[in-house]
Amino acid sequence: ATKNMKYKRILLKLSGEALMGDRQYGIDPKRLANYASEIKQVTDKGIEVAVVIGGGNIFRGVAGASNGMDRVQGDHMGMLATVINGLALQSALEDEGIQTRLQSAVQINEVAEPFIRRRAIRHLEKGRVVIFGGGTGNPYFTTDSAAVLRAIEIGADVILKGTRVDGIYTADPEKDENATKFDNITFDDVLKKGLKVMDTTAFTLSQENELPIIVFDMNTPGNLLKVVSGDNIGTKVNL
Ligand code: UDP
Repeated sequence: ATKNMKYKRILLKLSGEALMGDRQYGIDPKRLANYASEIKQVTDKGIEVAVVIGGGNIFRGVAGASNGMDRVQGDHMGMLATVINGLALQSALEDEGIQTRLQSAVQINEVAEPFIRRRAIRHLEKGRVVIFGGGTGNPYFTTDSAAVLRAIEIGADVILKGTRVDGIYTADPEKDENATKFDNITFDDVLKKGLKVMDTTAFTLSQENELPIIVFDMNTPGNLLKVVSGDNIGTKVNL
């Protein structure tokens, strides 16, 4: 069923902020439903899908710290925020008739399975979407780092970073109208040019493990399936 598809097992990274839609905080149910239907299009093709979801729509540790809160305390709140988003995405996927499992890096057993690598892989093989919540389970990390880590652990073919911009530009396209988009770029060039794709910890982990990253616009219907089919949209970061 996965013939004609470029990738067979993907790790989709969605930011928490993307879930806000046009809101200032929290979760926009319409946006959530859109994401679920995008994911359905690729699971229908037999693609194995794992998702790492951020928490920035609810809480970020650095934001807490800048208001005087202990950073680790704030990061714990951020990690729990990703579990909340994971639960919301799980519901939306179930509404689409997709089997899902939520695995958390922080133990919260009444709510989510613990992260167990072999079990996660088994779920994927059975066609279940696995959502990884709780980030890496450690403070001072981001969900981008969690995305790269989990992608490597489960042997994903690629990380798909779904954003609201359609790729990596020479400058921020929301601020500079002369910015141009890259179709392909190397890890080294991203670093040399000081472009922002992910935080450095996440980015170099991906580079060292030769795991390509594709940044694409997740808010345009059909895009996720196009990327998985190998269409040349977004920007691909390669060795
Ligand atoms: N976080 C953490 N460790 C992790 C992942 C996340 O402590 O491994 C916390 C951190 O405070 C972060 C928050 O969870 O600010 C939400 O994650 P992130 O900022 O990556 O979400 P996104 O920007 O994707 O919405």
